[in-house]
Amino acid sequence: MADVLIAGGGPAGWALARACARRGLATTVVDPAPHRPWRNTYGVWSDELPGLPAEVIAAAPPATVAFGTREHRLDRGYLVLDNEGLRSWLTGERVRVVTGQAAAVEPGRHGATVVLADNRRLAAAVVVDASGASRVLSGGRPRGARAEQTAYGLVLPAADAERLGPGAADTAVFMDWRGDGPSFRYQLPLGDGSVLVEETSLASRPGLPVDDLARRLRTRLAAAGVRGRFVEERVRIVLDVPLPGRGAVVPFGVAAGLVHPATGYSLATSLRLAPAVAAAIAGAFEAGPPAAARAAKRTLWTPEARAVHSLRRHGLHALRGMPPGEPARFFDLFFTLPPAAQRAFTSGRDDLPGTAAAMARLFRAAPPGLRARLAGLPPVRKAHS
Ligand SMILES: Cc1cc2nc3c(=O)[nH]c(=O)nc-3n(C[C@H](O)[C@H](O)[C@H](O)COP(=O)(O)OP(=O)(O)OC[C@H]3O[C@@H](n4cnc5c(N)ncnc54)[C@H](O)[C@@H]3O)c2cc1C
Repeated sequence: MADVLIAGGGPAGWALARACARRGLATTVVDPAPHRPWRNTYGVWSDELPGLPAEVIAAAPPATVAFGTREHRLDRGYLVLDNEGLRSWLTGERVRVVTGQAAAVEPGRHGATVVLADNRRLAAAVVVDASGASRVLSGGRPRGARAEQTAYGLVLPAADAERLGPGAADTAVFMDWRGDGPSFRYQLPLGDGSVLVEETSLASRPGLPVDDLARRLRTRLAAAGVRGRFVEERVRIVLDVPLPGRGAVVPFGVAAGLVHPATGYSLATSLRLAPAVAAAIAGAFEAGPPAAARAAKRTLWTPEARAVHSLRRHGLHALRGMPPGEPARFFDLFFTLPPAAQRAFTSGRDDLPGTAAAMARLFRAAPPGLRARLAGLPPVRKAHS
């Protein structure tokens, strides 16, 4: 019997597995394809994960910029992760790996049994669901139309990417809203002479079709004289994953609602929280499985984190309602906030005063129409006589 069984071998599942194993807990990871390489291009702010080992970093562009209607040089470093390095860092501890698909969980007196799709049964004191938005053991895929971030990207040689703007080989473009479409350009040097260029819809319910974004990107590239066949990346991130409910299973990663509702990011949060959640499980382990699961859940969602989450959800609502053109003006305001305020909103998961202060500053700086939208009011329409 395992001390901790984690269903889901994505980065979040493995971050927690590593942290549990380091605490001396006998840990198992179950995944249908546990050795399948991670293909997503992951980016994080460097201040979110200080001390990340060099092997985990594919690129640390010396400059990061964002464009609303004009250019903003950002005072924060942005990192592109090396997925192979990330995986070998996270999988270095002694963890049992089972190839299988978790299908159900049966609570018992000394923990729970996870039943796999082929009817194998695995017992554990604490069961963790790290299966991403599928949430296979903790409620299932969120129902109904969800708010989503979608994107379509192509990996170009740096020389081609240069045609979209100078400095492509060593500058991360966090967002470029110039133009009046519903999507922005996200651009990252990948550290191997290539550059990911992505057309991204920040938030829409349901998500903007990825094929529409592919057309927009190809039009953008054709206008710059770039044509050809390139490796593609398709992105669909559910932004409003429900927060964990009751039950013995401990969700983690995307499955636990760790996705920032207004930005779609979750990876840095999962990597940062994993040691604390493992410590909570280990600390309460002797008191029995229910106590260990409760301790883990309390660590995941503190009252402050829940309050920040509601503010971020408010941000998501405002962003979803913005007509084309308005995000550019909004992000001009956002990127003129002091770096500490920007950091509080994007990364201060339990920084309630910082998040509230950043949102209040934005509200005060906004012109009246945008201010109404940020307050959640319907847009003011001109009366016709
Ligand atoms: C192309 C792309 C780019 C992205 N870029 C970023 C980024 O830059 N920064 C960021 O923070 N986020 C990014 N995201 C969001 C991203 O999904 C998450 O950050 C990250 O992958 C979530 O990790 P996770 O481990 O929680 O879930 P996942 O990565 O979704 O992993 C879930 C795991 O569960 C396994 N699983 C599924 N069903 C079962 C089952 N029945 N039993 C057992 N295991 C199961 C899956 O095989 C998978 O290994 C991106 C997403 C995409 C698609």
